[in-house]
Amino acid sequence: ITDELYCIGCGAKLQTTDPELAGYIPASSLKKQLADHNEVFYCQRCFRLRHYNEITDIAIDDHEFTDLLNSLSAQKALIVNVVDLFDFDGSVIPGLHRFVGDNPVVLVGNKADLLPKSVHRPKILNWLQQQAAQQGLHPVATLLTSAKKLYQVDELLATIEKKRQGRDVYVVGTTNVGKSTLINAIIKQTAGQNDVITTSRFPGTTLDQIQIPLSNDHYLIDTPGIINGTQMAHYLSPKELRFVSPQNELRPRVFQLTPPQTLFLGGLVRIDFLAGKRSSLIVYVENNLLVHRTKTATADDFYQRQRGKLLVPPTDADHLPEFKAHEFTTKTAQDLVIAGLGWVRLPAESQFRVFVPAGVNYSLRTPIV
Ligand code: GDP
Repeated sequence: ITDELYCIGCGAKLQTTDPELAGYIPASSLKKQLADHNEVFYCQRCFRLRHYNEITDIAIDDHEFTDLLNSLSAQKALIVNVVDLFDFDGSVIPGLHRFVGDNPVVLVGNKADLLPKSVHRPKILNWLQQQAAQQGLHPVATLLTSAKKLYQVDELLATIEKKRQGRDVYVVGTTNVGKSTLINAIIKQTAGQNDVITTSRFPGTTLDQIQIPLSNDHYLIDTPGIINGTQMAHYLSPKELRFVSPQNELRPRVFQLTPPQTLFLGGLVRIDFLAGKRSSLIVYVENNLLVHRTKTATADDFYQRQRGKLLVPPTDADHLPEFKAHEFTTKTAQDLVIAGLGWVRLPAESQFRVFVPAGVNYSLRTPIV
């Protein structure tokens, strides 16, 4: 029935199958409106925007996103790139540095409320800037925010005001980084000072941009999220994902290991401590995720027997890619960062073998605690 129906708000073709994609309308709502002989329809996203002044993120495919980014490089704008501090790799927008052209970028590391108090903020800022530089991005400012706890949202607005120099502001990010939560926080912060948010069409795409007025003729503009294929999100069900994504401030967990011993982080990561002095490994992952220590000699067998049982998630290990092993030796203490999960502080002068699902990224960094 949705064949020739389009959203009057954003122009997307209506569909009733995927709430995450453009043009979604619940089947029941569509049915009712058709029965009422409605002639204009709003997708769920535009409906919420109109009625509650509230935005929700939707995902678009690479092709649409490229068009959108291309339209960005053609104008004078300030780009605000929101990333998830716990999933930098999954937050990267491939080629963003090319699309921004000469436009300045403000980098926002969101979900800072999840970092333990012991994390040294300047160190994580420094790490974030290094990660960005590896992607060819050289932000004019870098901030740590919590959209959820409203941490540094004021500072972000002040930074935007300072850096935009009369330009429009485009907020970009992959799905799930907290872009909508952040923009809703900004709307609340600025509500009353300005007119309500509006929409207008992105040139060359079917999608509308959501505009929040900053001054008489300049706007903060939300853009749809793009899906990044390396996110753990693609291998886990929404329920499993909630279980492994940090939800509250992380409590460090300390494990004493004598090599050769192994730590399992649920069924998702295996860390073999192959050689070195007896040391502690400090684990910073979602507080409810099971961390299990065992002998390396029996770890294979243990994993075969326990994956999907004791070692969860995943509950259904079949849809998780095969483990891939990586071996390395640490000279100094290092954080092993696993995209989407958190990190583990590893001791100096030790040999490790780490197993992560193929396609999920890991990296080493100077410890931030
Ligand atoms: P979007 O897809 O980028 O628009 O992301 P959402 O705004 O929908 O947020 C994705 C998930 O991250 C939701 O479960 C949010 O509750 C959560 N989230 C967003 N911002 C924060 C934050 O600052 N801290 C924490 N802990 N969670 C956040």
